[in-house]
Amino acid sequence: MDEERLIDPDTTVCSVVVPLYNEEEVIGESYKRLTEVMEKEDIPYEIVMVNDGSRDNTEQLARAICAVDSRVKLINFSRNFGHQTAITAGMDAAGGQCVVVIDADLQDPPEVIPEMLAKWRAGVDVVYGKRISREGETFFKKFTAKMFYRTLNKMTDVDIPVDTGDFRLIDKKVKDALLQVREHNRYVRGIVSWLGFRTEPVEFERHKRFAGTTKYPLKKMLKLAKDALLSFSYKPLKIATGTGIFLSCASVIYLIVALILGILGKLGTVGIIFVALAVALLFQGITLIAMGIQNEYMARMYEEALGRPLYLIRDRVNFTD
Ligand code: UDP
Ligand code: MG
Repeated sequence: MDEERLIDPDTTVCSVVVPLYNEEEVIGESYKRLTEVMEKEDIPYEIVMVNDGSRDNTEQLARAICAVDSRVKLINFSRNFGHQTAITAGMDAAGGQCVVVIDADLQDPPEVIPEMLAKWRAGVDVVYGKRISREGETFFKKFTAKMFYRTLNKMTDVDIPVDTGDFRLIDKKVKDALLQVREHNRYVRGIVSWLGFRTEPVEFERHKRFAGTTKYPLKKMLKLAKDALLSFSYKPLKIATGTGIFLSCASVIYLIVALILGILGKLGTVGIIFVALAVALLFQGITLIAMGIQNEYMARMYEEALGRPLYLIRDRVNFTD
């Protein structure tokens, strides 16, 4: 069934995109492990490092690597634009016939790449890494991630694989398709699923971070979850409408009951004030939440209307074009 892919061995076969934000503790080891794996493959490859506005020594270390290895290219952002934007910029610049995106901290083992390449050679267009275990992460992170992937699946019509990060290989034609999608507040793995193409997983065990701490604090995690949900589902709007309808009906019933109790003289003055206040606050709260949800979508539309570039590059190293 598989159709062997035609590969041109004279041009870059594989581009490996590595986003970096304050990764001075891991960049050296990351480069070493990646190079070991890629050299065994015996194909022309490049490593595209994207320095996402790091404030530590990441840039200096990346430049030093570029100085001794011309296969390593570096893009320096003008500031921190976020992980999803960094991988987008890496893909924009990647010249290979396939592109692999991998985290810098070695939580995604580079040793899985050959398996991805083998599937790609056999004709698969998207090979994503599926985590069968996660080691060295807090219960909170694992639990929230699990809940998030499953909730997202229920809320969207796009079939986004669960327990899957951005560690994946995509064929050049998928990359070109992805680059047509220039939306802000990106959830790249969702967009890749939306694109379609022949997709298969490879399973791997997610290790703990080689060194340093996570660059995804709760705030960034929440932003990613929100981007995923809002760019692939209108359900939050529908839930807001549904809640409004339910509460309106409930309030009519409530008013009738209160009226009857009032007529029968069973509702004291304090009781009336207390209940009225509680109900007013509840309804006001729900109205504001519903409006807040609408505003989230509106803010995203506004940002698209502004049409600002996704990212800005300060400089690039080892690029020939
Ligand atoms: N990263 C980035 N920009 C950011 C945050 C993270 O480029 O604003 C990079 C980071 O350097 C790493 C990858 O994204 O290569 C994943 O981040 P991290 O490992 O900290 O996330 P976690 O694995 O803890 O979810
Ligand atoms: Mg990590």
